[in-house]
Amino acid sequence: MERLWAPWRMEYIVNDKPSGCIFCVPATPEEDRERFILHRTDLSFVMLNRYPYTNGHLLIAPCRHTADMNELGDAEMLDLFATMRLCRNVLQETAAPEGFNAGINMGRAAGAGVDEHIHLHIVPRWNGDTNFMSVLSDVRVMPENLAATYDRLYLAFRTVLG
Ligand SMILES: [Zn+2]
Repeated sequence: MERLWAPWRMEYIVNDKPSGCIFCVPATPEEDRERFILHRTDLSFVMLNRYPYTNGHLLIAPCRHTADMNELGDAEMLDLFATMRLCRNVLQETAAPEGFNAGINMGRAAGAGVDEHIHLHIVPRWNGDTNFMSVLSDVRVMPENLAATYDRLYLAFRTVLG
């Protein structure tokens, strides 16, 4: 269980809190690349995690700012889960992971780095990646690598969506 929840704890430890809510994004896509937004629906969007646990760690958030699942309507809930499935399919196509973790941290006590705007994590996993990450745990992921990952996944979303 410790290892299963490590990705969420990671976010809590390293997130260096920009001012404002990072999940309240402009309605128009001009800043999508600098914000690492990969895909949008009418109700939610997909963002590359700047502090990935593994390469391809994605975040899915409703467009509406809320911390409370009870504030989300049925259409928003369905859209979040359908978008998570799309992310799973894109990651499967591009990175051929051997498994996934997906989940939501609700509240600081649960490891949420941003606890005021609910968001879902999906993390591709490979056998042995926890060992690899623990060895490299002091190494920050370079922005160049994130940009390259963003460009690759941006194309992959378009390919999978046809
Ligand atoms: Zn927000």
